[in-house]
Amino acid sequence: MPELPEVETVANGVHQRVHGQTITGVEISNNPQTFKSPPDEIADLLTKSRIDRVHRVGKTIVADLTLPYTGKKTGKNTSATAQFLIHLGMTGRLLVSAPETPVPSHTHAILSLSGGKELRFVDPRRFGRLSVSHNAYTGPGREPLTISLEDFIALFRNRKTPIKAALLNQSLLHGVGNIYADEALFHAGIRPRRQAGRLTRDELTRLRAALIKVLKHAIKLGGSSVSDYVDADGVAGFFQLHHRVYSRTGEPCRTCSTPIERIVVGGRSTHFCPTCQK
Ligand SMILES: [Zn+2]
Repeated sequence: MPELPEVETVANGVHQRVHGQTITGVEISNNPQTFKSPPDEIADLLTKSRIDRVHRVGKTIVADLTLPYTGKKTGKNTSATAQFLIHLGMTGRLLVSAPETPVPSHTHAILSLSGGKELRFVDPRRFGRLSVSHNAYTGPGREPLTISLEDFIALFRNRKTPIKAALLNQSLLHGVGNIYADEALFHAGIRPRRQAGRLTRDELTRLRAALIKVLKHAIKLGGSSVSDYVDADGVAGFFQLHHRVYSRTGEPCRTCSTPIERIVVGGRSTHFCPTCQK
């Protein structure tokens, strides 16, 4: 499952390759579960629209569109805008391909671009979702990379759930998944089962800094391998990070050599160092 850094990496890579281009044609598969908006509506809205910017909101990739001008002249810039939303799900990939490159199986959308290439959405397991929106999509929760310290602290006030579960609650912070929640708690020295509302101001300050650090570090690593995700002939799969605790059950902590423990919090596999985290 791609997490925030992977989604940002893909969004940035697609942006570099397609922004400023107009969509000259749209082909869409007939797989109903892929489309959260009616496929015809998606095709209609995208055709002849210009992709101004591709960016990430939570774990959703958002393409800002300027729609083709259809109204009558008013002398003002009345271009309408909309957004194309792409959620990668478990296995979704966006590829920027030459038209002659064979279309992979499980391709659910092909956007022909004025630059001569195609933007393809491929998703074997079909948990990915495509939709269009006329309003600016803001996602379910707050953005972990830009939230202020005071707002971050306020998110957890009076919360009786374990901090690990609160970090994964997408209506609080969006885009934080299992790997980076575990890694951030390790770097902040906080045990995952601690009650969110009982963390001190100092601990929450450390946690926010740790979360931003691990997410930005992963984005930086991903940035150098961006072509692997979006160029047609690239290798599938996401970069592997040097995790401190995630998925290292029983292995020695890289700081103190204590074996990493695995517990289940809020139904999710959770990893921590019993010595470094209090
Ligand atoms: Zn340790």
